[in-house]
Order: sequence, then C-alpha cells, then structure tokens
Amino acid sequence: MKRFWLALLSAIALIGLLALPSVSAAVTPRVDLKVLLVSSGPGADGPLQLAAWKETLDAMGVPYDTYDRSVSGPVTSAVLQVSADHGKYNALILTDGTIMSNWVWTPPGEKEAIADYERSFGVREVADAAGPASGFGLDFSGQQGSPAALGVAATLTTAGQQVFSYLNPGIVVPYESGLYMYLAVPFYDLPLWNGWGVTDVTSFTTLVQGPTVGPGWFGSPVAPSTIVGIANHADGRQQLVTTVNSSDWTISDKLLHIGMLNWVTKGLYLGSWRNYFSIHFDDVLLPDSRWSITGHCTPGEDGCTATTADIRMTPADVTRAAAWSQANGIRLDVVFNGQGATPSGAKGVKKGQNDALTTALLAAKTKFGWISHTWSHEDLDTASLKTIVDEINKNQTWATANKAPMNPAELVTGGHTGLSNPVTPTALARTGVTRIAGDASVDPAARMLGQAIVVPRHPSPVYYNVGTKAEQLDEFNWIYQTDPWVPHPTSWNQYLDLSATQMLGFVVGNDPRPFFAHQANLAEEGVFYDVADELLVRYRAWFSVPTAQPTMTDAGTLLMQQAGWQSALTAGQVTAYIQSGAVHITATAPVSVPITGTSIGSVYGPLRSGWVSVSPTAPASIAVP
Ligand SMILES: [Zn+2]
Repeated sequence: MKRFWLALLSAIALIGLLALPSVSAAVTPRVDLKVLLVSSGPGADGPLQLAAWKETLDAMGVPYDTYDRSVSGPVTSAVLQVSADHGKYNALILTDGTIMSNWVWTPPGEKEAIADYERSFGVREVADAAGPASGFGLDFSGQQGSPAALGVAATLTTAGQQVFSYLNPGIVVPYESGLYMYLAVPFYDLPLWNGWGVTDVTSFTTLVQGPTVGPGWFGSPVAPSTIVGIANHADGRQQLVTTVNSSDWTISDKLLHIGMLNWVTKGLYLGSWRNYFSIHFDDVLLPDSRWSITGHCTPGEDGCTATTADIRMTPADVTRAAAWSQANGIRLDVVFNGQGATPSGAKGVKKGQNDALTTALLAAKTKFGWISHTWSHEDLDTASLKTIVDEINKNQTWATANKAPMNPAELVTGGHTGLSNPVTPTALARTGVTRIAGDASVDPAARMLGQAIVVPRHPSPVYYNVGTKAEQLDEFNWIYQTDPWVPHPTSWNQYLDLSATQMLGFVVGNDPRPFFAHQANLAEEGVFYDVADELLVRYRAWFSVPTAQPTMTDAGTLLMQQAGWQSALTAGQVTAYIQSGAVHITATAPVSVPITGTSIGSVYGPLRSGWVSVSPTAPASIAVP
C-alpha cells in the first residue's frame, strides 16, 4: 500500500489564521442529508478507504456523492455548497485524510474551503488514514507498520465506548495484519502547542487506543497511543482522525464505521443498520438422507450405490434445540412437513400419536418459529396447480389441527422448487402466501412472484445430509477437492473457523436474508450448534447489541424496502435536508425511506431507526429530537 506522506515532514507547518465564524443570515440555513466521500484518486492514498466506505454506505443505504480530486481538481466551496445558506452535505468523509494534514501540500485554498464549510454549516469530518500530523494535535512516536508487527491490541477508551456503544466495551479491535498503522499520542500540553501555532487543536479525545509508546518527536511523554480519535479545533470544528488504513475486506472497518458514521452525521442520516441473524431448519418431521463417508456420495443421488441410515431428529434433539434457543436468545424456525408426523404412513394419524418426535415437537411448539415446508416436500417445478395448492393447504390444515403457530402467509417449498412454475403465482394467491423462500446463493435479490415476495435464504455451512462432524468434513473436502480457491480444512476446528467467518460476513452486513440449515443438523452430533456457537462467541466478542431476528414476513418487507430505496437513490428520486430543526423529505415517486436519528422506527444500538413512506403528494417533515 502507499504510505502516508511522512516524507513531507520537514518543519512545523504553521496553520493559517482562523476565520471568524460567519454571522448567521436571516434565512435559516439548509443542509442536505447526504455524505460526501472525497478521494484523491487511484494514484494517491485513499482508494482502499474509499472502497471500504462505499461498502459501508451502500450496505446501510446512505446517500452519498464521490468527489475524486485527481479528476475534478481541488475541493472548493462550490463543491460543498449551493449558497451561503444551502450546504450540500451533512458529513464529509475524506477517504484520503492526509488532505487536511499540515504535513501534506494541497492546492492553495483547498484546506481552507473544507474548513470554512465545516465551520459555517456545523458539519463534521472524518479524516481517514490521516496519519499522526501535528496539525491534528498529534505527536508521532516513530512507530509504524502492520498492527501485528507493532504488537497492537487496540481497545476502546471510555470515550470510545460511547461513540462505539454497540460494541463490546472490552473488545480488542481486530485490525488485520495486512493494514498499515502509525502510532501517535496527543500533544502533552495542547494549549502550549496551540500558543506556538503548531496546531489549533485545543483537545484531542482518543477513542481507540493502542500500546503505550513514546516519547514522541515533539517530546510527548510515554503514553497510550491513539489510533482513532477526535480533534477538537479552536474554531469549533471537529475531525475524527484515524492513523490506520482500511479496505473493503477489513472486519475492523465493518465494526468501527457504524460509530464513525453516527458521529460524523451527528446521529442523523438517511439509511439504517441492523445485524441480522435468523435461521431456518428445513425438513422438520421428515428424515434426511445421510452422506456416505466410504462411498463419498448420498444414497438416492447421482447413482450412489452406498447405503446409509437416514437422519431424523429425536425427542431429545427437540429438548436440546429449545434449551439452546432459550440460552442464546436466538429463535429457531422449524420448517416442517406435516406428512412426516406419520412416518409409518398410517392413515388417520393426525396428531402424531404414533410418533415420539411429533409429540415432543408439539409439546414444545411455542418455543420455536413455525414455517410451512409443504405437506410432503414434493418437487413443484412441474407440478399442477391442484398439486401445489394441495401441498400448501394440507400442511396448513395439519398445523391448524395441532395448533402449531405457523403464519400461513410464509412458505418454503421443497428444494426451493416451483419458483419458475407458471402456475405457482396462482397457487400462492389461492392459499394466501405472500412470502416464498428462494436460494440466495443462486438467486440473491428479493423480488415479486405474483403476490408473494421471494425471500432469498443463505445456505448455512452445514449440509442437509450430515448428522456428524466427520460427515460434514468429508463431504466438504470431497466436493471442493480440486478447487484451489477453497481451503481444505483437515480438522473440525478449521471448518468452524471457515464457517463462522463466512456467516459473520452476512450477519454484520445489514443483511436481513435468513440462513437455512436442516433438521439433520440438529440431530445426532448437532453440527449446527458447533457452528452457531463459534459464530456467537465471535459476535459477542465484538458486539454488545444483540442480533435482530426478523420473521420471514418481516425479512421480505425489509428486503423489498431496501431494494426500492436503492433504485430510488440510483434514479435520484429523493431529496432530503435538515432545516429549522426538522428533516424534510420529498420524492418524485412513492418510496420507503430509511432514516436514523429521528422518532421513526425502533431503537437498535445507540440510535433509533426505521422507514418512512414518502410520495410526490405526501412529503415528510420529521422533527429532530
Ligand atoms: Zn427441504
């Protein structure tokens, strides 16, 4: 990666004279709710941070403009404001934070234009990967390099625990070894350096601190180093400065960007964020076939001649599932096939009197979510309208007779079949289904199918046909044996590492799509629990805020809102600004708008967020608390 421009440190650069705050005009200023990402182009510092911030803002649905200085020239007032009473951005994120460093040359007037805008409109700034420059009020320790080489175990200060209050206060921020970091400390006597004109920063608040370093180049004594902190300037401006770079593949950014965005927007922005973790278990009540470790195949598939015993949950597995769910505060959704309640095929057995699993599951029915998986798991790709309707209705009838609390509007078809069957929309309309599951690995976007929303589900890293760790490991390595891009785990712990990493990427990605596994994974060795426990251990090491668990119905609504909002943003259909203590939103087409920091929605982490409907005839004005 390109280093910060440390070479330019040749002398103590004097900062310019401070402009006086502008006298407020008669017109109440308007500031648009939009973020400006400033980059210095691919040849300078910042492309990695730019990619990281775009990923964050895209995932959260935050509107932004990108300004590339290498193409469009230095940032001027015209870039930032329409007039003295109309600012275009409520937050500035400098993906190349060195722009504002006194160690770095920029075209005349550029630093001043940015500072003037922030001062006039009360707008904050993130100076990402800005380095340890004296202008930020930072003294450099001389230590720089990869976090691993520097021995960094970065932690949150008390102030950091407030800005990043959704994180575990004891978190060790997982800065990846591929990053480049400078260790700095705030000047030991800021008013002194202020008086000498070295900096106009009056105080520096460290949020993320690293190892103790020092003494600094300017004589700061040995002290805990700063990696992320807030520089408070004499004129009231505030910068959040980081001394480490980042990238779209870094987990450290996924963790910290949320708090940085909350801070830089003063907690008010379009967009919203949750960590989601919903999990479905398909084929409940039915048996699943079992992978053969000796034959490397599954009986019934691809001409497999091996034989194995099927896998089916027992009453003890129901007890274990309910206990795990309660202990972890995670709802497990059973996606059931009523036909499995009569495994012997006996006619007239409606309440599972003959089946211990059915009895146990119904006894614990209120401890799970219930979703229909059709009556018999029939392949619906070429099924008739009557067959599809029967498969849906029979399962619902069974659930109703047994008082299993399913929502008849939700449906998962066997193997996600029937989604391209031309009669399926009619079948869904006749049975009142408004949510139908899809496979996110082949069909990732939510869409309409007749009256129903297709809710894509992420395959979990445990296969439908395994009840033991050995089976899971063997099948994974057999499938990917010739794929050089996929790791080949030789131990269960390695497999857990892979699985938890993959799932966490979705959980922390503001992604309401549910995961799906199978009843086999709750049976025997319970391979699901190992994977989920590893996932949750890691999650809780990072986050204090629990995961949100939307139902399939809510997930469908959220996914369509997210999709509709993205198209409205792309089409430029929405204008939002803050003026006179209220947010004003107008739209040229009806759209649901995500908003954080008002009275709309529910509290998640430090802020309240939700969705507000706006149309050309019904703009929204929301008071800012
Ligand atoms: Zn199934």
